[in-house]
Amino acid sequence: MDSAALDILRTTFGHPGFRGEQARIIDCVTRGGDALVLMPTGGGKSLCYQLPALLRQGCGIVVSPLIALMQDQVDALRQLGVRAAFLNSTLDAATAREVEDALLDGQLDLLYVAPERLLTPRCMALLDRAKIALFAIDEAHCVSQWGHDFRREYRELTVLHERWPQVPRIALTATADAPTRAEIAERLALEDAQQFVSSFDRPNIRYRVVLKDGSGQRGLLELIASHPDDSGIVYAFSRKRVESIAVQLAQAGIKALPYHAGMSADVRAANQRRFLQEDGVVMVATIAFGMGIDKPDVRFVAHVDLPKSIEGYYQETGRAGRDGEPAEAWLSYGLGDVVNLRQLIALSDAGDERKQLELRKLDALLGFCESTQCRRQALLGWFGESHPGACGNCDNCLNPPERWDATQAARKALSCVYRSGQRFGAGHVIDILRGVESEKVQRFGHDQLSTWAIGADMDVKQWSSVFRQLVALGMLEADSERHNALRLTGAATPVLKGERTLWMRMDPPRASRSRARGRAAAPVSALSSEAGLRFAALREWRAEMAREQDVPAYVIFHDATLRTLADMAPSGLHELAAVPGIGSSKLERYGDAVLQLLQQAHTDVV
Ligand code: ADP
Ligand code: ZN
Repeated sequence: MDSAALDILRTTFGHPGFRGEQARIIDCVTRGGDALVLMPTGGGKSLCYQLPALLRQGCGIVVSPLIALMQDQVDALRQLGVRAAFLNSTLDAATAREVEDALLDGQLDLLYVAPERLLTPRCMALLDRAKIALFAIDEAHCVSQWGHDFRREYRELTVLHERWPQVPRIALTATADAPTRAEIAERLALEDAQQFVSSFDRPNIRYRVVLKDGSGQRGLLELIASHPDDSGIVYAFSRKRVESIAVQLAQAGIKALPYHAGMSADVRAANQRRFLQEDGVVMVATIAFGMGIDKPDVRFVAHVDLPKSIEGYYQETGRAGRDGEPAEAWLSYGLGDVVNLRQLIALSDAGDERKQLELRKLDALLGFCESTQCRRQALLGWFGESHPGACGNCDNCLNPPERWDATQAARKALSCVYRSGQRFGAGHVIDILRGVESEKVQRFGHDQLSTWAIGADMDVKQWSSVFRQLVALGMLEADSERHNALRLTGAATPVLKGERTLWMRMDPPRASRSRARGRAAAPVSALSSEAGLRFAALREWRAEMAREQDVPAYVIFHDATLRTLADMAPSGLHELAAVPGIGSSKLERYGDAVLQLLQQAHTDVV
């Protein structure tokens, strides 16, 4: 590896070494080769084009659909002393012209451009006159029509290759599956590019799946309480849910803000800004929120409703812990979610093929939720990556769930659904099984059925668990147009006939579940009390700096950097320069202030 690259990594970015594939990718692009980079969120993709842009002659052109984030990306680079700018529709004409002049003048290292802007004749002509170091195509999965982020303009980006064949191109994405990868290569004419596929494991994220208690709020409050002053995202299924959860959290004294596509653009932008700039904001959002959110210190991502697919779940949870520090992915779900989502799919105006695909994706996710396997192993397996399991950082590894032979119970449940005519929801069928003489039982004469009271040995909760898992296993389906009446599917036959044994996950009793919860919440930092005070003081100082310059706090310093500072309490500039995350530009900008603050904190303690 070229020592110039390592030099810039250390002095400009303040990182001690490269991560994973970074060095090889940077080497490839710096030499003028094309690259297709697949790396999980937080893997460090930006460096893969930023460094070659600094090493090569001319300006690196970065194509990104995330206009709202360009300002932050550029702010972060400027803090490092990198000459960066952006061109998109938010700029007025005069500012845009200044940026263009700077480019032609050779004053820029990196220029971020929205794809629709790039494709204009004016911009093409501009690039013709400029010296270009490379093209980086970020969020490259946007070329795929099957993904949820499809952008028509991305399909036209082959023009870059046709017009400037000698300029290297690097396409980057965090979307993992092989078909999408092939589509990206084809659509962007990158078949000959070198492919760099990183492991998608996120070892610092702890995965947990819990059962919903009623509306799911209590568990959520406990989760947030175990993350005091941390930033987090809570994903909910609908706009209405987002609104109501945000209000409830706020009433509980939590700094919670809503975000969904139904809100005005101004309010949405303001809420996003606060989430990025302030410490400890909890964003309650639909999946409209998050694509390209670069905030590195999101400490938890909670799903209070079931996501639509494993891909979606992995992408959303991937927004936690980009800085590599411990983070948590927490999902709570219940039978109601399954019914809601199936209904949503059924009522959508998608074609049959698409509906089938979505149902299969939902089933895979349900299988994941109910599984007793290591979560990490299951998730990575879904993306075609093998993992030995026993990761030690997921609920199933930390508190292995018990399983029980549910064959008999399942047979009783299935035949009771059948005997009562496949017209009733789980509640009523459980009444029949338990021999509860409800008004409905009397009305339909269900106390005459052969399955009446054959399940009195189990309580409602146990039965609910059986029904939930039967639905998750696809042996029962709920008909949303008929009050969630349960119906048998073909998959139930082997169990009914006694040809198949069925093991089920034992739901933990409530009390022990909340104990497990408390234990599972690992403290993010184990600072001594003095260091803790220094950390708090540094955070406060950082917030002030961020406000003054109107940039997100993490653009000044990451949490990990503050923590190292608090821990080591360096007393001179030389020591300070050795702290990861402090390059020469930040040393110059903030070095004295930080030393002074640490000195002050020391005096206060003594
Ligand atoms: P991605 O775009 O892949 O999600 P980023 O480029 O935003 O990831 O990087 C994620 C985080 O990792 C950032 O906070 C970045 O500063 C940090 N990072 C990237 N490369 C390194 C490295 N070699 N050493 C230390 N930290 C790094
Ligand atoms: Zn595990």
